[in-house]
Amino acid sequence: MTHHKQHTIGQSVWCSGVGLHSGLKVSLVLKPAPADHGIRFRRTDLPGNPTICAHYDNVIDTFQATTIGSAGIGVSTVEHLMAALYGCGVDNALVELNGPEAPIFDGSAAPYVKLIRKAAIVEQTGARRYLTIRRPFVVEEGDSSIIATPADQFQVHYEIEFPHPRVGKQEYSWELTNTSFSREIAKARTFGFLKDVQRLQQMGLIRGGSLSNAVVFDENEVLNVNGFRYSDECVRHKILDFIGDLALTGLPVLGKFEIRKAGHTLHSRFLAELMAGKGYAAQTPVAASAPYIPSGLYAIA
Ligand SMILES: [Zn+2]
Repeated sequence: MTHHKQHTIGQSVWCSGVGLHSGLKVSLVLKPAPADHGIRFRRTDLPGNPTICAHYDNVIDTFQATTIGSAGIGVSTVEHLMAALYGCGVDNALVELNGPEAPIFDGSAAPYVKLIRKAAIVEQTGARRYLTIRRPFVVEEGDSSIIATPADQFQVHYEIEFPHPRVGKQEYSWELTNTSFSREIAKARTFGFLKDVQRLQQMGLIRGGSLSNAVVFDENEVLNVNGFRYSDECVRHKILDFIGDLALTGLPVLGKFEIRKAGHTLHSRFLAELMAGKGYAAQTPVAASAPYIPSGLYAIA
């Protein structure tokens, strides 16, 4: 596989599962798509089968999950599938689903990685364009922050802190390579605290939530019988979520991202402000020394 060509999947693949928040069973078909198509979702259960581009402009909700859509037509909890596609290097795919929310499976991206591998990843003729960070860029809110700086690779450093004896302070540094997503990040599950469950359910959320699709903590312990998959599973999952949200740029990204105590809402704000360029976005050619970069790419200053 070369880095400078776009990629799609080799064949259509099907799966089904329950949505974390809706609790609804949904069927999902991942289909190949042509170069420059990007990732798009199609609601096959709605009249006219409306299609939604997986693009930061289409984010309509970021509470507890990332929802994309418009005019009352949406797809929620897209971040784990988006992270899997991004982590596997899939630029173009059509995601057909017959419900409002992507399946949660085990709360991680591993089942989606397995699905993508089953479909196989194939190279296309179109050149890949990268979004490159050209200058330091910061978004902050309270003690949460995201700092982007230029780098020749895609690197993420995430730090979290929860006042819980099994979580506490965790940090993890990760860099995208051919295998690093599936090896280090994909298996990390979403997590939550028992004290929040009732409140979220009263809000109509996590109706499909259970110990089979999340790590759940009571006041002192992990309630899942088998405990963690990694001792720092929580921070790894935050990286998974960030990758899924950043994938909504629609382009592979070259840059280093240092994130502290953020979530979907700050990820999304960061993305919108980054792409708006804060008045200094520019399309410029990238340094010839940077690896994997074809000509004609989109760069943001
Ligand atoms: Zn997540």
